[in-house]
Amino acid sequence: MRIKFWGVRGSTPTPHLENLRYGGNTSCVEVRLGDNLYIFDCGTGFRALGQQLGQEFVGREVFAHVFVSHFHWDHIQGFPFFRPLYERPNRFLFHCSSRTRSLQRVMEEQMASPFFPVGLVEMQAQREFYDLDEGRLSLDDMVVQTAWLNHPQGCMGFRLETKDGVFVYATDNEPGDPIFDQNVRKLAAGADVLVYDAQYLPGEYEAGRRGWGHSHWREAVNVVMESGAKELVLYHHDPAHDDACIDKVVKEASNYYARVRAASEGMEIVL
Ligand SMILES: [Zn+2]
Ligand SMILES: [Zn+2]
Repeated sequence: MRIKFWGVRGSTPTPHLENLRYGGNTSCVEVRLGDNLYIFDCGTGFRALGQQLGQEFVGREVFAHVFVSHFHWDHIQGFPFFRPLYERPNRFLFHCSSRTRSLQRVMEEQMASPFFPVGLVEMQAQREFYDLDEGRLSLDDMVVQTAWLNHPQGCMGFRLETKDGVFVYATDNEPGDPIFDQNVRKLAAGADVLVYDAQYLPGEYEAGRRGWGHSHWREAVNVVMESGAKELVLYHHDPAHDDACIDKVVKEASNYYARVRAASEGMEIVL
């Protein structure tokens, strides 16, 4: 399994000099398992992944499963800029919950006039939509487990159980609710790699950010230690956290748990 990070920022893109080492693009992670391609979220990092796929698959079909955790901007904003969606014979299978709205409708509205100059009809790739709820499903050679996280309008976490190892993508989750706290630890149990929401510093969270749907690095450390996951990847960095701040967070977190790093654009993990 190869995991590659294309967008690691939360809330809004931050393409500023002081952020460029970790990166300014919003949520998008690529997972390759053999020849199979899985994508988690379609923030602005999704655009750069599309460029790379365009170069790799010249004259060949791009086929991918795309998992969308929820519909906040930082998880869907790259969608209209993902070139492989405009080209035949590419094929994309989208998986997400339609509890609040269907993804198809979200895409139509996102590209409707006067918000975007090109209509959804221009997207020539085949698109299929699958509704997910909490549970387990077999897909290709793996099992995908989903769980609801604690976030305004909901957010879904994903666990891939594969022959190469277990990958968990759990972003946009606020601690403090006993059921959700248990859900996320169960989802992460024994994972080889846990990608987890570490948007805030603990002090920031306490000082006025409760109820906004996000976690902080200290809770990320709690989750990795209590779930028995092996490696923690801090993810969904706050727009106000520059490279120096994230370096400091990693240093502090590693005083509690050794196998921790912060997600950065272009970073790859091989299992
Ligand atoms: Zn987000
Ligand atoms: Zn969100």
